[in-house]
Amino acid sequence: MRATATPVVKDLVLVGGGHAHVTVLRRFGMQPVPGLRLTLVTRDIHTPYSGMLPGFVAGLYGYDDCHIDLGPLARFAGARLYHAEVEGLDLTARRVRVRSRPEVAFDLLSINAGSRPRMLDVPGAAEHALAVKPIDVFLQDWEALIARVLASRGDFRIVVVGGGAGGVELALSTQHRLGRLLAERGREPGRLGYTLLTRGPDILPTHNAGVRERFRRVLAERGIDLRTDHRVVEVTASAVLAEGHEPVPADAVLWVTDAAAPAWACEAGLAVDELGFIRVDAYLQSVSHAGVFAVGDNASLPSPRPKSGVFAVRQGPVLANNLRRAATGRGLVRYRAQRHFLGLISTGDRYAVASRGNWSAEGVWLWRWKDWIDRRFMTRFNELPKMTAERGPELASGIADGEAIRELSTLAMRCGGCGAKVGSRVLDRVIQRLPLAGQRADVLIGLDAPDDAAMLVVPPGKALVQSVDYFRAFIDDAFAFGRIAANHALGDLFAMGAEPQSALAIATVPYGRERVVEESLYELLAGALAALEPTGAVLTGGHSSEGAELAFGLAVNGLVDPDRAWRKGGLRPGDALVLTKPIGTGTLFAADMRRCAKGRWIDAAIASMVHSSLAAAQCLRRHEATACTDVTGFGLLGHLMEMTRASGVDAILQIEAVPLLEGAIETVAAGILSSLQPQNLRLRRAVRDLEQAAQHPRYPLLFDPQTAGGLLAGVPAHRAAACVAELRALGYSAAAVIGRIDPRSEAEAPITIDVRA
Ligand SMILES: Cc1cc2nc3c(=O)[nH]c(=O)nc-3n(C[C@H](O)[C@H](O)[C@H](O)COP(=O)(O)OP(=O)(O)OC[C@H]3O[C@@H](n4cnc5c(N)ncnc54)[C@H](O)[C@@H]3O)c2cc1C
Repeated sequence: MRATATPVVKDLVLVGGGHAHVTVLRRFGMQPVPGLRLTLVTRDIHTPYSGMLPGFVAGLYGYDDCHIDLGPLARFAGARLYHAEVEGLDLTARRVRVRSRPEVAFDLLSINAGSRPRMLDVPGAAEHALAVKPIDVFLQDWEALIARVLASRGDFRIVVVGGGAGGVELALSTQHRLGRLLAERGREPGRLGYTLLTRGPDILPTHNAGVRERFRRVLAERGIDLRTDHRVVEVTASAVLAEGHEPVPADAVLWVTDAAAPAWACEAGLAVDELGFIRVDAYLQSVSHAGVFAVGDNASLPSPRPKSGVFAVRQGPVLANNLRRAATGRGLVRYRAQRHFLGLISTGDRYAVASRGNWSAEGVWLWRWKDWIDRRFMTRFNELPKMTAERGPELASGIADGEAIRELSTLAMRCGGCGAKVGSRVLDRVIQRLPLAGQRADVLIGLDAPDDAAMLVVPPGKALVQSVDYFRAFIDDAFAFGRIAANHALGDLFAMGAEPQSALAIATVPYGRERVVEESLYELLAGALAALEPTGAVLTGGHSSEGAELAFGLAVNGLVDPDRAWRKGGLRPGDALVLTKPIGTGTLFAADMRRCAKGRWIDAAIASMVHSSLAAAQCLRRHEATACTDVTGFGLLGHLMEMTRASGVDAILQIEAVPLLEGAIETVAAGILSSLQPQNLRLRRAVRDLEQAAQHPRYPLLFDPQTAGGLLAGVPAHRAAACVAELRALGYSAAAVIGRIDPRSEAEAPITIDVRA
């Protein structure tokens, strides 16, 4: 769904949304390289800004203050955003291996995936200590630790392992926060014992003597027991064991030791240093593999520097420049790491110590200054410039080599009709790569032995249920889009109570180089298979063509005992209305297009859409659902209206009980609605007492068109609570009873919206 018709000539894949890659994204957004496609693969959608983390832990910042939202940033850059963890690299085939999704092909690769504290070599550390990275895991553990401390009655001993800037800051900021929380509850903060253990003879080994002195004093003033020359050799459930010392009792252990490298870089064959960090040259390019760049903590520079976010930040502009140059065949520029840098290390209580070379200072003013610098940095990414310039279709000069130019020159000549089909070589390769499941007995001819058409059997006593859906991509991730489109199509079968049997796919992939077309088609179909397979349905064939934009759909077949098929018209007075998934996809993706949606909202919406309704349909069957439909384009109210009309009943809809996707109420309140909303709103004639209902902030969401939405069913009232409990246990965590069915009244409008909380 890129906003450019320029064909993709090269793929740049960014691994990790670290401090340098955020600058790369911003710069490419401001000045794209036409023909270069960016893909960001990141484990976190909201990437933490390290400079503000201690302040966040201390309770001085909120989550959004110190996390860069990669969702809008990636959209700004025109980059595909894959929320997934990289597990390996195939440097020969030039592919990135990603957990739970297809490999991602690259021409250029840049790795900014950070580091983790080294803990695996210390027995018990992984089980009993809280590692400060990955940050998202640490933040959950930290919340749990707060709860433990507040629930504890006696003394509580916390041991922090690691005497670098991270360890010292974390000790001070966690102590500040916990002490304040205890004091707020009228409890004695003094019962919180803190010990800081460090391996070396002093803390802060990469800083000057003045800084060390200042922090030794601060630690003493704050009652933190500093123990140097403590090399931790084991962690148990109740103590930390350091070589040659008595065990240090611990109710909780925070682990902030030296950084360790991700193992997959070394395993892939990249040249690494003795600690496993990727060795790069002065241009930030791997010394062993041209076209592979590494920055930040996971890189090892020619003259080593401390692992600090400052370096990753400074590398960002140089990296962006070099990636641009590498893509267009120009010479690279050198990165010159500063020898001395200004470090502002906080004490957790709005006070900071400055460190640069041999100079040091401290004070409240330094905290204010740090706060100002950090907030200014965040603003650059969270408030992106408006870009009005249209992107032209021309390729960036130097991006295409002779072969690419030959391939691209045929694009303008591509025919319509069957001439627009994806070439058979590409199709064959894609089908061979697909993890096709075993065939079913009732599929006589399928993709295992393809013919002109598929041949299916409808077993005795069964009826064939068919449906088709097809739509333009609304996300720039063909794999996720394939899954969502398949779930969307299957929703009709589930709503009829049918068992999915088979599907035909219809794909349109953007014109482009053969390799790019192949990848897009593969990802789409792999996504569709990931959704079809668990339902028992097999892909029996399809049609694929090249076109202006990515679009996909499926014709799906299901089998049902005709006497047990659910119909929209089966609702009975007294039934409870059960909805299995939250609503809000229409407004959220409208907001995403405008870069007004938070990354986590879109992420959660995608997670909801890729969630199959298979188990929900089976659950509704067990609870004797009387009628069912899937909530899609007409919105919740439109589909409910169809059911009430067909059933000859009235419905009371409790608006406050309708589950919503996170962020939907905010985007609707901001006036951001799907382009289909005005048409759906016409269905408001089905609502009684419209004036009161229309004032409710959730009202517009009742008309919000859904993609791969949940099932809406009538369930006998006495089964409804158990049905919802089971749905939730099955993973439909937002499932809810949202209303009830009444006998048909005299009133013309069949639906009453109950606005009471
Ligand atoms: C408590 C503490 C306080 C600190 N305070 C400061 C400070 O004040 N100033 C400072 O300069 N430094 C500070 N540091 C050091 C700083 O955190 C790191 O040096 C810095 O975060 C490294 O930045 P980076 O860009 O290399 O990686 P990171 O910021 O760690 O970013 C890595 C990114 O890669 C993603 N990722 C990781 N693995 C994968 C994977 N396998 N696949 C896909 N994505 C992946 C992550 O989701 C993340 O988006 C502190 C460290 C700690 C522990």
